Amino acid sequence: MNIHEYQGKSVLKKYGVRIQEGLVADTPDKAVEVARELSQQTGTKWYVVKSQIHAGGRGKGRIVGSEQRGVALAKSVEDVRTISNNILGKVLVTHQTGAEGKRVNKVLIAEDVYYPGPSEPKEYYLSILLDRGRNCNVIMASTEGGMDIEEVAERTPEKIIKEWIDPKVGLQPFQARKVAFALGLEGDAFKEMVKFISALYRAYAESDSSMFEINPVLKTSDNKILAVDAKVDLDDNALYRHPELAEMRDTNEEDPLEVEAGANNLNYVKLDGNVGCMVNGAGLAMATMDLIKLSGGEPANFLDVGGGANARTVEAGFRIILKDPNVKAILINIFGGIVRCDRVAAGVVEAYKAIGEIPVPIIVRLQGTNAEEGARIINESGLKVYSAIEFKEAAAKVSEVLAELGV
Ligand code: GDP
Ligand code: MN
Repeated sequence: MNIHEYQGKSVLKKYGVRIQEGLVADTPDKAVEVARELSQQTGTKWYVVKSQIHAGGRGKGRIVGSEQRGVALAKSVEDVRTISNNILGKVLVTHQTGAEGKRVNKVLIAEDVYYPGPSEPKEYYLSILLDRGRNCNVIMASTEGGMDIEEVAERTPEKIIKEWIDPKVGLQPFQARKVAFALGLEGDAFKEMVKFISALYRAYAESDSSMFEINPVLKTSDNKILAVDAKVDLDDNALYRHPELAEMRDTNEEDPLEVEAGANNLNYVKLDGNVGCMVNGAGLAMATMDLIKLSGGEPANFLDVGGGANARTVEAGFRIILKDPNVKAILINIFGGIVRCDRVAAGVVEAYKAIGEIPVPIIVRLQGTNAEEGARIINESGLKVYSAIEFKEAAAKVSEVLAELGV
């Protein structure tokens, strides 16, 4: 699960990681109010207005229909108001959002940490993630902060430092020193970076995260080390251990159909094709998607209804698939092992009637316990539903239906 920058920073702060301080707002008035408050707390005279969306590249991204960037410096509270007004409720397009962009509902008003001083502020890159190949966590660091790290990895891979950490042993102090040294730091900045890395690792491990990406980490002009940005990805399977983190979920940032599916305990992933499918079991779902492609269609989704398909789950699945305007036909492919085919067939008929007229052809392939009985129920229902028992039959029916529709 991804969370917003302001939420990620609050997790870091809780573990003693120094951050660029800020306060969040959802209206221009509130933005001005929190800017004044922030100025009192931190003494900052300038502010950074940062769009809160689940995507990076905001600094280079633009608000649709204007020149406004997704991250902008404000030199007065009036600037804060103008910029917040330009951003809030508008759509921001970055290289990570796709052309449709994302609507900005909140802005983070942050203190300006690039102030002048004895040395130049310098940006670094730091991330911690799971390296499945090595069964380890890995810290990645680079002096090329603020840039797209994929680009750095491609052009100058030698500029990415990697340090692997055994999760059972944890981060050893010498490892944090090694990374700070490799970044070319010395004196106070070196010590600060060692502290920063140690606290960051603890935050990562104790919050059961699967990725932290801090880009940039800033060395301020007076040698403080702090997180300017925070991309935090939490492990969904561990959220039950962190109710306070689970609450940070923002469903506005997720695909609405996937949210609805999750609420119904369905595993749904939206795809771009024209044939919706509803299947029990992930393996059969993959095979069914292959079948759709072999029949000349493209799967519109992955949908696993799980082991106990009944009228309620089938109906929920139907409703979700039908909300996708690209769907031209639906293939239901259920193996009746634990669940009996006649039960599923009755569920399909019941769900169909509950929804009313379904505007696209449906092919139902039921195989396993009571398959013939299932086919009979479908055929005698009088609904526009085709039944099949064999995989091949279902494939032929999908091709036929697509040909009739001319797609
Ligand atoms: P991203 O573009 O979505 O990764 O957003 P970031 O939080 O990384 O911010 C983008 C850029 O804004 C940074 O790389 C900085 O150059 C700039 N920025 C962020 N905070 C400040 C600040 O306090 N002062 C100034 N002058 N620039 C900042
Ligand atoms: Mn960033």
